[in-house]
Amino acid sequence: MKDLIKRTIVGSRLLQAAGRLRGPSAAILMYHSVMEDPGSQEAYLGEIILSQKVFRQQIELLARRFRPTSLDQVERFINGKAEIPDRAVVVTFDDGYTDNYEIAAPVLNELGVPATFYATVECVDRRMLPWPARLRFCFRKTKQKRWTDSSGKVWPLSNKPEREGAFLRACDECCQLTGAVQEKYVASVANELDNQVPVDSGALMMNYDQMRALVRQGHIVGSHTLTHPNMAYVNSDVARHEMIESKRRLEQELGNPVLHFAYPCPALSPHWTEGTVAASREIGYATAVTTNGGLARQGDDTLRLKRIGSRETVEALQWSLECAFAGHLR
Ligand SMILES: [Zn+2]
Repeated sequence: MKDLIKRTIVGSRLLQAAGRLRGPSAAILMYHSVMEDPGSQEAYLGEIILSQKVFRQQIELLARRFRPTSLDQVERFINGKAEIPDRAVVVTFDDGYTDNYEIAAPVLNELGVPATFYATVECVDRRMLPWPARLRFCFRKTKQKRWTDSSGKVWPLSNKPEREGAFLRACDECCQLTGAVQEKYVASVANELDNQVPVDSGALMMNYDQMRALVRQGHIVGSHTLTHPNMAYVNSDVARHEMIESKRRLEQELGNPVLHFAYPCPALSPHWTEGTVAASREIGYATAVTTNGGLARQGDDTLRLKRIGSRETVEALQWSLECAFAGHLR
C-alpha cells in the first residue's frame, strides 16, 4: 500500500512541481562498490556493494528522469559562475575500488553520465584495502571466541551480532589513527583474531593506470585521504598531511590538478570540523563532499557539501531524489 502511494505521488509529478519552486539544486549521490555478485566480497566490503543490475537501472533512471551533471559544473554553480539544469544529479564513488573502473564506468560511459571517483591513496600505492574492509574481514572470518579492545574490555565473538559489535568498536578505535600507527593497530587485531587478510585482496583497489583512463574518459578523480581516518578525530597536522600528500601523489600520477576531496566516514561522528574545512580551502581543494544528507544549493560552502547515500533499489533511489528535490529528505 505504502509503495502504491509512493508510486502515485512520484507518477503525478507533484513532487517535481514542488521542487521547481525551491530554485535550482543538485543531488550529489554517493556510491562505493558495484559488482556482478555483491555476495562475493561481502566479507571485506559488507553492505556497501551494489549489484551491477541495480546500478544500471539506477543510472538509466538518472539519465532518463534527472540531469546528470559534473561536479566541476556544480562547483561553478554554487559559486554563482554557471547555471545547472533542473534536477541536476552528480554521481560520486568513495574509496577507489577496481569495480568502479571495470563495472561502473562502462555503464556510466554508455549512458553519458559523468562521475567523480575518490581514491584512498596509500591503499592504491600499497595495493591493499582500506582498513575498515580489512578489519571487517578479520572479525567476520575469525575462529576466535573473544577479542579485547584497547580499554581492556572483552568482546565475545560467538555469533554474527557479537562479531559486528566488536568490529564496530574496533572501527571507533582505528578511525582515530593514521599511517604506521593505524597499520600496527590492524596488524594487532589480525594477530589476536588469528586471521591474516589475504594479500590478493589488494587487487580490489584501482591502480593509477585505471584512474588515468577514467580521467581520459571525462571523469574526475579526487582524494579520499591517504589512509582513510576520521578527519575530525586526528590532530590538525595529521589531517593536513592526509589532505596535502594525497593531493600531491594523485597530481604526480595523473598529471593534472586534483581539486576534489571526500571525507571518509568510517566511524564516530562528526567526520569533519570547521578546522578541516578551513584547511581544505587553504590547501587548494575546490570542493569537499561529506556524508551529511542533503542537496547542494547556490551559496553553500563548496568545502562541506552534502550528499545522498546510494539506495538498494531503483525505486528507493527515485523516491529519495524526488523527496529531496521537493524539499523533504528521506
Ligand atoms: Zn570511504
